[in-house]
Amino acid sequence: MKLLRLILQGFKSFADKTTIEFADGMTVIVGPNGCGKSNISDAVRWVLGEQNVRNLRGQKSEDIIFAGSESRTRKNGAEVTLVLDNSNRELPLDTAEVSITRRILRNGDSDFQINKRNCRLKDIHELLANTGLGKGSLAIIGQNRVDEVLTAKPEERRAIFEDVAGISLYRMRKNEGLQK
Ligand code: ATP
Ligand code: MG
Repeated sequence: MKLLRLILQGFKSFADKTTIEFADGMTVIVGPNGCGKSNISDAVRWVLGEQNVRNLRGQKSEDIIFAGSESRTRKNGAEVTLVLDNSNRELPLDTAEVSITRRILRNGDSDFQINKRNCRLKDIHELLANTGLGKGSLAIIGQNRVDEVLTAKPEERRAIFEDVAGISLYRMRKNEGLQK
């Protein structure tokens, strides 16, 4: 699954609309301490549905909205869009690019969109379940997560292998079926 671009607005240190294009090959993001490199991977995690703000290095959901600086007032909301390459129709949507958007306002309102149409978080999880980008995926490994994999309980470790093997969608559906 290839990422084409990430568009951030009001997310953490990215007050203004910022577009990061991922060219072919490897992209490396470099910069001094505190310039916002990790905030970019936090944005990818967040738009893909991360529900635990601690995993984004925050305490409360507002912490992901630009909080203002000496010269700028704070923002009222954050919006991140991740655009995926779907030219091979790997995702079950008939568009060459698939965009996933997540928005949140300070008053707590939030929503998700796929290709600019409102959807549920569950739709995003299902869309991505077999791509390696899904829930709990190891596509993004934070500085502290290597240990976590090594010390995971057997069932947690099995979930990792299931995700890599592309069968977590079926497990999600099975669990849903069992709840009914
Ligand atoms: P390092 O090289 O130390 O890992 P980094 O480039 O990964 O640094 P980040 O952790 O991405 O840096 O960015 C930290 C910066 O983001 C801090 O300056 C912090 O003030 C800023 N920041 C985080 N959340 C917000 C927010 N809600 N509003 C404004 N700025 C924020
Ligand atoms: Mg960092």
